[in-house]
Amino acid sequence: MRLRPEIVALPAYKQGKPAAADAFKLSSNENPFPPHPAVLAAIRDLDINRYPDASALAVRERLAARHGVTTDEVVVGAGSVSVLSQLISAAAGAGDEVVHAWRSFEAYPGLITVAGAVGVRVPLTEDARHDLPAMRDAITDRSRVLIICSPNNPTGTVVGAQEFAELMAAVPPSLLVVLDEAYAEFVRDSSAVDGAALLRRYPNLVVLRTFSKAYGLAGLRVGYGIGPVPILDAARSAAIPLSVTEAAQRAVLAALEVEDELLANVGVLAARCARVQEALREQGWAVPVSQGNFVWLPTGDGTSRIAEALGAAGLVVRAFPPEGIRVSIGEEESVATLLRICGEVVRTL
Ligand code: PMP
Repeated sequence: MRLRPEIVALPAYKQGKPAAADAFKLSSNENPFPPHPAVLAAIRDLDINRYPDASALAVRERLAARHGVTTDEVVVGAGSVSVLSQLISAAAGAGDEVVHAWRSFEAYPGLITVAGAVGVRVPLTEDARHDLPAMRDAITDRSRVLIICSPNNPTGTVVGAQEFAELMAAVPPSLLVVLDEAYAEFVRDSSAVDGAALLRRYPNLVVLRTFSKAYGLAGLRVGYGIGPVPILDAARSAAIPLSVTEAAQRAVLAALEVEDELLANVGVLAARCARVQEALREQGWAVPVSQGNFVWLPTGDGTSRIAEALGAAGLVVRAFPPEGIRVSIGEEESVATLLRICGEVVRTL
């Protein structure tokens, strides 16, 4: 059997260790609030002997109305990671380049390789932000896709609206720009780029959002993209048919009905995240300004040791040795432990 060597060499997607029953799972930027009863009610009594609506029409209609676009300007996938994969496959093939920041979302390199394309990683700035001028300079005539992640996973930093506009003015309109806004609802910085305010402004921009984070539906796998119809039609063609389940579609519709309550919880988490960052900085940590539901601890060579110390205290976190540790903002009860251990170890760095 000849398997593609670049696929065989891909590392498995790391999810972080499963949390023990009494531990806090702060390794996947999940929403710690329990599912809303209305959402749970909506996914009861499913006809699971039937296939779902392949086009997720009801969901697209709801999202289209909300964003002031047509249903064809919305594509729904099994998580926004699926929509991203479809977009990359639609635009970049063998030998084509996909430019993205690094460190950024760890799924990017794998999706690019599966498409047969080549990833071009542009290092973050010293203060853990996207380096947009360097990203622009990395674009060649082989570049097909540019991924911008704001807030950036795992550092939480946002791209400014102004610098994003300058970037869009400088890149060729034939380059597909994907703005990955998985954490958009957590952003409180009004100078940050907001994809929802840019719809229809560019013929080459697709904005990605997800129901996994703010809406707490990570386990059902549903995300979406908004952008120009020709790009989204190509992405639809690159999809695995029927991968957005009926449960996922019903849950989204129910979640949007109780959106005010869910977004109030997001407000609680955003405030908690701001408070944790402030406390960590007071302890001496150089924590980048995070607008997501997570914080980045630049632990350098101490990364594995400190992740173990947090694990021993019952906090499962995501370590990226030798750079740092990403900690999701979870239950209020986890915050005191986080700050206690961080206060102890900051002096050992
Ligand atoms: N983009 C970013 C930046 C993420 O952090 C994640 C989830 N970790 C995703 C996309 C994927 O989210 P989902 O597929 O659950 O919608």
